[in-house]
Amino acid sequence: MSRNETLFNRAQTVIPGGVNSPVRAFGSVGGFPRFIARAEGSRMWDADGAAYIDYVGSWGPAIAGHAHPAIVEAVREAALKGLSFGAPTEAEVEIAEELCAHLPSLDMVRLVSSGTEATMSAIRLARGFTGRDTIIKFEGCYHGHADCLLVKAGSGLLTFGNPSSGGVPEDFAKHTLVLDYNNPEQLEETFRAKGDSIAAVIVEPFAGNMNLIRPSDRFLHLLRQLCSAHGTVLIFDEVMTGLRVGPQGVQGLVGITPDLTTLGKVIGGGMPVGAFGGRRDIMEKIAPLGSVYQAGTLSGSPVAVAAGLASLKLIQAPGFYEALEARTVQLVEGLQAAAKRHGVTFCAQSFGGMFGLYFADALPQSFADVMASDRNRFNQFFHAMLDAGHYFAPSAFEAGFVSAAHTEVDIDATIAAADRVFAGMAA
Ligand code: PMP
Repeated sequence: MSRNETLFNRAQTVIPGGVNSPVRAFGSVGGFPRFIARAEGSRMWDADGAAYIDYVGSWGPAIAGHAHPAIVEAVREAALKGLSFGAPTEAEVEIAEELCAHLPSLDMVRLVSSGTEATMSAIRLARGFTGRDTIIKFEGCYHGHADCLLVKAGSGLLTFGNPSSGGVPEDFAKHTLVLDYNNPEQLEETFRAKGDSIAAVIVEPFAGNMNLIRPSDRFLHLLRQLCSAHGTVLIFDEVMTGLRVGPQGVQGLVGITPDLTTLGKVIGGGMPVGAFGGRRDIMEKIAPLGSVYQAGTLSGSPVAVAAGLASLKLIQAPGFYEALEARTVQLVEGLQAAAKRHGVTFCAQSFGGMFGLYFADALPQSFADVMASDRNRFNQFFHAMLDAGHYFAPSAFEAGFVSAAHTEVDIDATIAAADRVFAGMAA
């Protein structure tokens, strides 16, 4: 038995499912997860010593590549000065200034330790600010695991949500309305009926948790317009897209400014960090200035902030995003051409350093489109690529990530492997 399998067996006796976050268990693709021993640049090595070109990048944070020397050095230097103080530090001011300078919506920002904390806090703040309870989320968007966000739509328009997880009381879920992503008519109808009672709309402005979907400009503009007209707080969840699709996030790319933004991943350079921020008048409602409570013993951890600052410095190098985007485009175009050569139904798209692969004949526009793609074909592709040393996300419903450490040669190697895999799939 391989060391990966031995570790998985051991893990399953002491950790539920053998993992500390469900998707890592390979439940959707089958087989056993690879236990990662180390990673550097574009590469990861597992417990059996197998090497992979990595297209997960810790689910986004590793934008500069794994174990980037500047980030590792920043972490080392910070750690030598003390791991945490529970008191403010100059570095926290610096990273807040950096984030406010990058993201158009941020007048003020507060650091937390995960994306979940960021979205949970932003929802509480929006409710405190508006004095309303109801929130809207969209089916297929994931915003972390706060109770009010683990909600699925009931059937029919304007139906209040049902919990999509055990342990979430219906009394909580009933305050969350779940609508279709990218459906402007339904959004308009909902606001016409209930607009003045809605505290917040939370949305992934490009969705990255049902594979990758870019909504129509009309949908995003309408969101902004309806929220402004009804005094509803518009929250862009840019935990995944912030500083990933470009230096200003989706909001900078599409020119729509939300009231609040949630962040994570890249801003921690691989350490546990999240953030939420936005309009000054809203942010001033948070304790100690206002009545909405929010706190964290390790919030603004000096080590995590040091990693985040080092990561932010790297992405500001001239040409950083152009190079990242060029590599990602090379990957999706190469994969598409290879699939076409072998007559495999497949398409792909990318934004900045983020990409989506679909075993479908057209780019998906909605959750229903994504669900209709060929999951078995994805699983076949995933395992064949993994065996050949190319590590893609272990689920047909996740976006992928390229880093600045991926070279043209890396991408060519992945395309060549995919060409062989597609040939096998066509046969
Ligand atoms: N929002 C989005 C858009 C995410 O992609 C994620 C995690 N992938 C979260 C929130 C939750 O972040 P975390 O896992 O750090 O709690």
